[in-house]
Amino acid sequence: MKIGVLALQGDFAEHIAMLRRLGVQTAEVRLPEHLDDLDGLIIPGGESTTIGKLAVDFGLIEPLRAFGERHAIWGTCAGAIFLSKDVRREQPLLGLMDITVQRNAFGRQVDSFEIDLEVAALKAIDGKARPYHAVFIRAPIIETVGDGVDVLATLPDGRIVAAQQGKLLATSFHPELTNDTRFHAYFLSLIR
Ligand code: GLN
Repeated sequence: MKIGVLALQGDFAEHIAMLRRLGVQTAEVRLPEHLDDLDGLIIPGGESTTIGKLAVDFGLIEPLRAFGERHAIWGTCAGAIFLSKDVRREQPLLGLMDITVQRNAFGRQVDSFEIDLEVAALKAIDGKARPYHAVFIRAPIIETVGDGVDVLATLPDGRIVAAQQGKLLATSFHPELTNDTRFHAYFLSLIR
């Protein structure tokens, strides 16, 4: 199995390190042809406007859309924003996932925080139901999800922070910044 990480901007190196720990082949994706032999793609956290503009400049928008029609893609934080269909402002989006997102949903006062989440889907990874320690940095909230989208995790107040539509995955938080490989393993399980 070979998984690409979109390497235009943001913390792609951390995702690559996590994937290596799980023993899969990795590739940095900067050009359309880099998608050719991949089984899945991760879009990292960073700055969604920058990632979107660079994707336009490198001719990646349509190739990424076509890739996502057939393969698994997981967006973390800025990557989740880029995967969505609407953020209620002008910026390049892939529009692959039927979710609407509010950027920087926690404002300046609480721009970063960590919290334990219940993520039932992760139980399939190691058979245990332990909480998932999630890191949020200037994070978005998934405001609405379409009919074909499953909610994987919410904050205690009910706001959605992880969702799945078939082989497409969006998380508001950053599993690549923890030591816990379960979310990456879950993504690989969608491909296997
Ligand atoms: N606030 C960033 C954005 O709107 C996302 C932050 C992140 O990826 N940690 O693109």
